Amino acid sequence: MLDDHSSTTDRIAFAPALNIPDHLTGEVQSKLAYVDETIASAVIPASGDQITLHLRQPASPERQLELVEKVQRVVESMVKGAIKPRVQILEDHLDRPTPYRLDPMDTLLALGEISQEAEGIFSLGPLVTKLIQYFEKRFLELADSFGAVPYRFPTLIPARYLERVNYFRAFPHSLSFVTHLREDLDVIDNFAQHAACDVHGLTAPLESFAGIQNLLSPAVCYHLYFALADKPLPNGKVVATAVGNCFRYEAINLVSLERLWNFTMREIIFVGSKEFVLENREIARQRMSSVLEEIGMAYRVESANDPFFIGEFRKQAAFQSAFQLKFEIRASLPFKDSTLAVGSYNFHQDFFGRSLNISLPDGSPANTGCVAFGLERIAFAFLAQFGLEPENWPETVRVNL
Ligand code: ATP
Ligand code: ZN
Ligand code: MG
Repeated sequence: MLDDHSSTTDRIAFAPALNIPDHLTGEVQSKLAYVDETIASAVIPASGDQITLHLRQPASPERQLELVEKVQRVVESMVKGAIKPRVQILEDHLDRPTPYRLDPMDTLLALGEISQEAEGIFSLGPLVTKLIQYFEKRFLELADSFGAVPYRFPTLIPARYLERVNYFRAFPHSLSFVTHLREDLDVIDNFAQHAACDVHGLTAPLESFAGIQNLLSPAVCYHLYFALADKPLPNGKVVATAVGNCFRYEAINLVSLERLWNFTMREIIFVGSKEFVLENREIARQRMSSVLEEIGMAYRVESANDPFFIGEFRKQAAFQSAFQLKFEIRASLPFKDSTLAVGSYNFHQDFFGRSLNISLPDGSPANTGCVAFGLERIAFAFLAQFGLEPENWPETVRVNL
């Protein structure tokens, strides 16, 4: 199956153990980022009949076999028995004409409008910040239209919380852990004197660090559910909104402003009965549709699934799709003829209500749902469609900057 596995090479091409159907090529490719540290990039063409791995350093024939075997495990787990979900399109405005066709990244970097601190970590300058403030204004109007009450949540989240909602099993690959130096004078003195950075990062003995009690939070709405846990829901419903830093380690998939390690999410969160949550999720979509129309953004809203890790993927993705639990706003990126999820409309059924013991007045577990927008992503997609010159932007955006 290998092109050539008799000599050392930094590029391996082979056929997957099972042909990868087109609806899964992207999902499988993105998971290959987590297969082995030597993989610099992995490419699966739309035909799904070939996998090419580019390696950071040449691999011996034995190492190549090992890598191929690990990749085949991913393919088997994600593809075997997978059912093609029926993609449901709720809105299609991808053909809206937009004036720009270039990748905004190079110009943003050249102008100093964004600067990169590390992989997936960016500072944003005035232009992007003002644009985000504009979108935030619109999101807050949307939140207000539901009478959403404001919350502020921490950036850290206890490991115990994530354990309670099964996060470790569903999304282990993207977790970001937090620690600190152990409370020990010798450890701290030693660190202060010797800590330095080399190519691998910070050099300090692992024993210097305390056990992990907290992580960087991967989402906003979880914090609300934890705040409501283990008690009856006052009035049987809550509508809340919050913006927060979110962290998802996306390995070699971290690219430009599209996929960040550290990004910001605005959420509007609904807790209550199933009907209440579903109805409001739908109203939110319709109201958002008017906003996007006013701006003139090219996008489509379609059914989607969360990026579950390999072992959980097939079952969970099928479940989400069968019950229409997730829809994404996928904005057009004209420069690459593709789309990017800038937001999602989510329904969790009574998953959090049951896991966290949030009860309705009749004693049944609460249902939850959220509308979540990625602020860097919506700004990026806007710039990709309208360019970097505010005079070329839609009037409604310009006057509100
Ligand atoms: P994707 O399908 O692109 O991986 P997701 O389905 O994991 O995204 P959600 O969990 O629905 O995303 O999060 C809500 C929104 O947060 C997304 O629509 C997107 O705009 C933003 N978002 C999610 N992950 C990232 C990331 N790594 N970098 C920047 N924005 C992100
Ligand atoms: Zn949410
Ligand atoms: Mg998604």
